[in-house]
Order: sequence, then C-alpha cells, then structure tokens
Amino acid sequence: LEDQLRHAQKMEAIGTLAGGIAHDFNNILGAIMGYAELSLLDAQEGKTSPEKLRNILTSSKRARDLVRQILTFSRKLTPDMRPLRPREVILHALELLRPAIPRMVEIRCRLADDLPLIAGDVTQLEQVLINLASNASDAMPDGGVLTIKAAARQLSPQEAAELALRPGLHVVIAVSDTGHGMDKQTMEQIFDPFFTTKEVGKGTGLGLATAFGVIKAHAGAITCQSEPGRGTVFTLYLPAAEPSR
Ligand code: ADP
Repeated sequence: LEDQLRHAQKMEAIGTLAGGIAHDFNNILGAIMGYAELSLLDAQEGKTSPEKLRNILTSSKRARDLVRQILTFSRKLTPDMRPLRPREVILHALELLRPAIPRMVEIRCRLADDLPLIAGDVTQLEQVLINLASNASDAMPDGGVLTIKAAARQLSPQEAAELALRPGLHVVIAVSDTGHGMDKQTMEQIFDPFFTTKEVGKGTGLGLATAFGVIKAHAGAITCQSEPGRGTVFTLYLPAAEPSR
C-alpha cells in the first residue's frame, strides 16, 4: 500500500507535467547544447560537422516525441466513464493491435460468456490493453503465444484487501506471453514513469505507468507475475458495474 501511495504521488507529479519532464528533457537539451557548441567551434575553424548536426537532430526528435507522449499521458487522466461490455472492449483493442503484431506471435483469446458490464472509459481501457499486448509481443522477438483471457470473479474480502479493492464481482483480464520475462529488479520498476529497458526510440517507459494510472482511475488493480525465460502475465481487475448479476 505504501508503494501504491508513493506511486500515486509520482503519477500526480507527472500529471501536472512540470516536474515530470524536467529531468529527461534537461538531459536532451544538454546534449543538444553540447553538440551545438561543438559544431559552432568547428564552424569558427571553417570546418563543417554533419555528425554533430545529426546528433542535434536526433536529440531534438527525441524531445519532440517525449513531449507528445506526455501530452497524451496527461490528457488521459480524466476518464469518460460509461457502461461497457468488456468483451467488446477487448475484441476492439485486439483488432486495432493485430496489424502491429508479427506473424510469429500467435494470439489466443479466451473470453467468458458471462462477463458483467464495467464502468469505464473505452479509449483508455483499449489503450491499456494495447500497451500490455504490444509489450507482450515485444517480449517475444522469436515468436510465441500471446493470450488474453477474461472471466468474472467474486473477490473474497481477503483477496480484495490484498489488491486494495472493494470485495465483490470483478472482471479479471489476463494478458500473458511466453516471452523473455523479467527479473525481480526490473519488475520493481516497470510501473515507474520513464522506466524502459528498450533501446532509445523504441520505448518511452510510459506504457505501464499509463496503464497503472488508468486502472487506478477505474477503481481497479493491475498486477504482474513474471519468470525470466518463461514469460509474463499482467492481470487487470475491474469492478463490475452492477453489484450483482
Ligand atoms: P516501454 O514499453 O516503452 O519500455 P512500458 O512502461 O510499457 O514502457 O514497459 C516498461 C518496461 O517493462 C519495458 O521496457 C520492459 O522492460 C518491461 N516489460 C513490460 N512488459 C513486459 C513483458 N510482457 N515482458 C517482459 N518485460 C516487459
């Protein structure tokens, strides 16, 4: 719970934009200024320095992408809640995602027929599923199986307490992969904004931070289990809109 509190505070800081970007953005600006100064020196000596200029361009693009990501991220913090059929949300997210998944990745989908309605923001929830599934796909560069399961579950008071949820009926959605998995140290940081193990340009480290924020705003929970070399499961818990079926 302390962890979650720490996290919530962090999310708030990012949400207000100002604090969050400063660090990353400063580093990028530092690089741009450094290369600009160096190429100015070159210019004063009558030399041209295309490589330094290229570095300036690359860093500027990174800064632009960062700002873009953060704008989407902060805009998405106020959800537009409506009653939703989880099945439709999942199937639509999959449809959007499918073109981006390589052929070597097999997609399996097991959705229970008796899923209750949930209250949610369809765009945000789809974004969460897309983030999870594209991470799963990224974790399987040599192919594997991406499975999305959804079922309704009545959480016991104890289970609910462990997840900081209210007891009662929940839709439980699991996104799993047979990919490279994560070690403990990585797992402790995955929900932190800007944490990424992907190469520059490939990852922003905002996918899971966004997922965490969105699921919290839906009064739900997100958990992760992973085993290096075997795969990863992300589980979403979303409260049913109706108290009983
Ligand atoms: P990004 O995908 O931009 O790196 P995320 O916040 O979505 O940012 O993910 C953060 C990190 O969590 C990833 O860089 C990766 O190390 C790890 N990760 C997320 N999902 C998985 C997964 N399914 N399998 C292995 N590692 C994962």
